[in-house]
Amino acid sequence: MQALECKFGNLTLKNSWVMSAKELGFLDANEWAAFYLERAKFGVSGIVFPVSEVQKQEPSVVKQCLRGLDELQCISFLQIQLGVLDLQAKLEFALEMGFLGVVLEISSQIEAKDISLLQEVFATYNQKCSIFIGVSDLNDKNYELITSIKGEIHGVCILNCPEENDLEELIQCKKNLSISMMIMMGNIKMESIEKCLQNQEFDAILTWKPLVCDTKFVDKLERDMPPIPCQECGVCTLELPVTCPYHPEVGSEYFETQRRKIATRKEVCIYGNGISAGYAAKKALERGFPTTICKTKDLETFVPQSDALHQYQIALYDELDALGVKFEEIEGGLSGFLRERKPYFTLFFQKNQEDSLVMETMFDLLDERLSCAKFLEGQTKTEIEESLVDVYQFFKQFYLA
Ligand code: SF4
Repeated sequence: MQALECKFGNLTLKNSWVMSAKELGFLDANEWAAFYLERAKFGVSGIVFPVSEVQKQEPSVVKQCLRGLDELQCISFLQIQLGVLDLQAKLEFALEMGFLGVVLEISSQIEAKDISLLQEVFATYNQKCSIFIGVSDLNDKNYELITSIKGEIHGVCILNCPEENDLEELIQCKKNLSISMMIMMGNIKMESIEKCLQNQEFDAILTWKPLVCDTKFVDKLERDMPPIPCQECGVCTLELPVTCPYHPEVGSEYFETQRRKIATRKEVCIYGNGISAGYAAKKALERGFPTTICKTKDLETFVPQSDALHQYQIALYDELDALGVKFEEIEGGLSGFLRERKPYFTLFFQKNQEDSLVMETMFDLLDERLSCAKFLEGQTKTEIEESLVDVYQFFKQFYLA
């Protein structure tokens, strides 16, 4: 399907597909941001965020996410209630956070007597951001209100899912109002949506599930490839964090994004201060990775029982220092290190490290390292190096693949 641009005020949507954002239940704000950035990367031209979702996130991450969307030519809208008294404050909040548009949902408190005030405020802000009026349907009251203020706004957004047989009426209303319109895709069949877009009946389609189901939904439509169809199983509306059985990566975008960065940045960060950590750092450096060794304040320095190993350890760390390995001290133990989620890392666990419990799923894999730790004492330098190389290769494969 050919992508058509649509213009709302000073803003241009690169195609007609806008994502309606929902409660995701992700554990942290970075995952939240990664979820939307991923969809924007594959073609979504706008995202409508409900204010309740935005307020749950850290403002700095929201701003960072919106900047990222901007770079991906994806326009961010904030969906807020249209109130009379605090309208200006709400618009200021949207601008302060970096939203390029707002969808102001009409509440029942708005009366005909408020119209001149709305016109005045919209006239002040409609050059700064794109203003949409959000309505559940176009009943007489809403229709009348939109008719009165349409000179100061950029479009109407139908927030409730219309049915197939509502389409004709909506098309007629849009023609009568002569205004841009976004409609919720809801239960409308894909063929009908495509037909409406081809005939330019609507300017944008708001949707959620098809984009959960298939990150590349828009990209595939534009390349005439079949997207993964939504099965309407409802799992994504029942479970938090959001998951979809037809797109198992849903909810893990943050981790996936980090793994991709690992593959491209080729930097290694190693946790620990023992021989294995030092040796892994040496190998990482030899392979051309900028390398950092991290340790926490509470991580006791690993001192091998054998003098020979201890001497080897001292010499190894001196060598690393001379080779330019960076050393960092971090807060919060190994779990702090994991939480910080460096976009690149290689981990080395110690047998008595309680923190290693946070990575329970990796325990099978860690056995190799644990047996290696037991194996170290009394081995020759070559044997140690050989076993450490194996461990390093294993982690390299896991994190840098
Ligand atoms: S979980 Fe089910 S309803 Fe939700 S997007 Fe996936 S297939 Fe569709």
